[in-house]
Amino acid sequence: QQTDERIRALVRKRLETVGPTSMLFYEEPLHIVRGEGVWLFDDQGQRYLDVYNNVPSVGHCHPRVVQAVAEQMGTLNVHTRYLHEGIHRYSERLLATLPPPLNRLVMMCTGSESNDMALRLARQWTGQQGIIVTEAAYHGNTSAVTEVSPSSFKKGTLPEHVHVIPISLMPEQADPSAWFADQVRAGVARLDALGYGCAALLVDSIFSSDGIFADPPGFLKPAVEWLQARGMLFIADEVQPGFGRTGHSMWGFERHQITPDVVTMGKPMGNGFPMSGLAAREELLAALNDDVGYFNTFGGSTVAVAAGMAVLDVLAEEALIANARQQGDYLKQQLEGLQSTLEEVAAVRGAGLFIGLDLCNPARDGAPDAGRTTAVINDLKRNGVLIGAAGKSGSTLKIRPPLCIARAEADLFLDRLEQSIRATAG
Ligand code: PMP
Repeated sequence: QQTDERIRALVRKRLETVGPTSMLFYEEPLHIVRGEGVWLFDDQGQRYLDVYNNVPSVGHCHPRVVQAVAEQMGTLNVHTRYLHEGIHRYSERLLATLPPPLNRLVMMCTGSESNDMALRLARQWTGQQGIIVTEAAYHGNTSAVTEVSPSSFKKGTLPEHVHVIPISLMPEQADPSAWFADQVRAGVARLDALGYGCAALLVDSIFSSDGIFADPPGFLKPAVEWLQARGMLFIADEVQPGFGRTGHSMWGFERHQITPDVVTMGKPMGNGFPMSGLAAREELLAALNDDVGYFNTFGGSTVAVAAGMAVLDVLAEEALIANARQQGDYLKQQLEGLQSTLEEVAAVRGAGLFIGLDLCNPARDGAPDAGRTTAVINDLKRNGVLIGAAGKSGSTLKIRPPLCIARAEADLFLDRLEQSIRATAG
């Protein structure tokens, strides 16, 4: 009772002070005060298994990252306009994980900023304006990037120069690669006919806000190669799949055997320290720099690169990409088992520790069930598990824990999920 009153008071205070763009999760919002590994703790000491947050990808408050940031913060914290070895050591190490043509790194603070620069690069390099994205994609919050983020639109329509691919239809296609390439070709034809031309295809290769479309690996390849052969660019938004989440390798696009022209990254890059980056060929960046300069006050600061370096250390030392593959394969297999026993589970898709589970209403011909999904999310929270939803209709549970999740924690999640799906029936 007292807890409820305290939570209500916090919510009231927040509504009186914080702008309406700031949304809270859950019917009964959560007041968390501490994080460690895959666990979050509330003000009453109750712990929650975090299956939602992909920013603290090597684990909440990882001591190695915390120490690196604190030490550098207490030594020197400046921008990139002085010589400092941290920035080139970090750039060299990160670029070594990318295909050779991508030979320069620019650092910013948010994924939105890196996608914003990617759009500028593509438009300047090609002289064209149109961009192709997927139907419920999210790429960030600047004015330019909002235009290519259909999931942000509450009303109105997308600008004409943005072409949208209905990726949710892909699982029904006999040949997803051919279908996707046809969609891209049709998009380019439409943008050409409207006079905008097409500068780039911009996709998040795990299609996170679209509802997670990971398979078949390689389905992006024919479309990307077709575009690149005609001088258009492929921008891989690695904000979600990057830094090992798919369990395959460092980058999501690698599952598709393609070489992007531009790679944007963010979220897990600093495990919560705000840092992001854009990798591209030097010639692309040089051409942009001839036109308009670019400076980012906090991007690539001495503290940011210390955080980024510590994240790369932990990823390697704790073999987290292999863990993402192992635990991810296990989770997916168990969830497929759940699909065969519970008719509400319509589909399971994903790679590594990024899995989507569609909930449907069997009484309504298996229609997507966003209401049930919300009920499951709230029930899981009451039972100590934090999870979210994605997808065009909001009926895909988004399973995306920190990469350090252990088998026992995965089992706990599976158990609670099954209970919650059963508990919310009818
Ligand atoms: N791209 C993708 C795929 C994202 O999921 C997000 C954030 N949800 C962004 C870009 C934007 O990143 P940020 O919020 O750091 O600006």
